Amino acid sequence: MIEYESTRGRASGTFTDAILEGLASDGGLLVPKNYEMISKERLAEWQDLSYPDLACEVIACFATDLSKDRVREMCHEVYTKSKFGKDIVSVKTVNLNRKGGLYILGVSNGPTLAFKDMAMQFLGKLFDEILRERGLKLNILGATSGDTGSAAEYAMMGRGSISVFMLSPKDRMSEFQKSQMYSLREKNIHNIVVPGSFDNCQDLVKDISNDLRFKKTYSIGSVNSINWGRISAQVVYYFFGYFRVLQKANKSLMHPVSFAVPSGNFGNILSGFVAKEMGLPIKNLVLATNENNILDDFFKSGVYRVRNPKETLITSSPSMDISKASNFERFIYEISDRDSNYVSFLWNELTEKQSFTIDKNKFQKLIKESGIVSGSSNHNNRINTIRKIYELNELVIDPHTADGIYIGDKYLEENCPMICLETALPTKFEETVQEALGFVPERIDCFKNIEERARRFYETDGTISDLKNYIIKNADIN
Ligand SMILES: *Cc1c(COP(=O)(O)O)cnc(C)c1O
Repeated sequence: MIEYESTRGRASGTFTDAILEGLASDGGLLVPKNYEMISKERLAEWQDLSYPDLACEVIACFATDLSKDRVREMCHEVYTKSKFGKDIVSVKTVNLNRKGGLYILGVSNGPTLAFKDMAMQFLGKLFDEILRERGLKLNILGATSGDTGSAAEYAMMGRGSISVFMLSPKDRMSEFQKSQMYSLREKNIHNIVVPGSFDNCQDLVKDISNDLRFKKTYSIGSVNSINWGRISAQVVYYFFGYFRVLQKANKSLMHPVSFAVPSGNFGNILSGFVAKEMGLPIKNLVLATNENNILDDFFKSGVYRVRNPKETLITSSPSMDISKASNFERFIYEISDRDSNYVSFLWNELTEKQSFTIDKNKFQKLIKESGIVSGSSNHNNRINTIRKIYELNELVIDPHTADGIYIGDKYLEENCPMICLETALPTKFEETVQEALGFVPERIDCFKNIEERARRFYETDGTISDLKNYIIKNADIN
């Protein structure tokens, strides 16, 4: 059984603990003590597996306190054609008139049209199983600027052991995103609208999380992007994408590929890094940011500086508008050779000065070995990329995917396929697509006229006491 240890060195636990706890008790993040190395022989065995069978093999490497049969059952219940479409995860070849193979990995075919469904649907099932077994109830509290909230609600709705309290900002979401969340009628889903911005929502969640007694009394938990269950479920599609692209590109097993990843909280790309640590032949992991380029800055300069809310820009790839990257600590832990004292020191610096600088000479080699390279794009780059991809391929992509393709193209090499993750479908961000192309792709039936559906939500006055009262009235407790 693999144990989990905290990046700050003073907490540990099992896979199940990591799932239920979120943040470790010492303020750090739990990671497995070691990663299982997947040999060439095992890769060969895995290469033709269906998505749910592959998911079982990969997730079982992390979920070592659950039986493999149980993981298999869960994967087969979650990764179905009815939830994710025919192939679960699809691969498209795209052309940008350059040498080298460019591919789009379709990981946004789930119920809310963003890649977050891939992990959240699994986490919903996993939470429900663990809670039922222990006879516990959980009230998930979260803040969203759009994609996370809807993915969580569609994964948890109707599950008897879980209620969701999701805070969203009154102004900042698209009508499509609002309808997707607020039209849900399930009793265990509570949408709470907060006056102001996403940061106001996050502050409220933080206030409640710091109130340990309230948190305990009302069994408050979270499903935010640091949850290890999400990271491990995302590792699967790096393997799956690798195998399918190799077949398309006519390359033999062990041939290297690169991935381009539209990034915000560093969750998705961290999963790619874990896949590489497990022996998947990944050359580069191309980290794409938008104008909120905290991570691009870090990989270029060694300086990590978090932004305050005023410096955080509202962009046309809004799901990447972050002021800090919550999973980044796990990466620093790895490249510092798991030095929890050093990580604790850096995060103290961060609390005091809003930034830290790593010794670039010391870490240059390790960052290079990690394969992560980076770039950032602006609005015009995204618009032009959406146009170019449409003109050359008659394919419509969303603005986040455009970030990834724009930067991925810069690192394209002749004999190394570049696989860009499609983190959302264009239907979710029609305004920007309209600006780029002058039209929007037809919606699939279940999303037609979604804006007209009746909406149900609670509008809070933005105070912590009002929020607490709402939770007290509606929480399902043990
Ligand atoms: C959440 C999200 C991202 C960023 O993913 P991270 O794991 O936070 O880096 C990118 N694109 C879309 C569409 C998203 O919803």
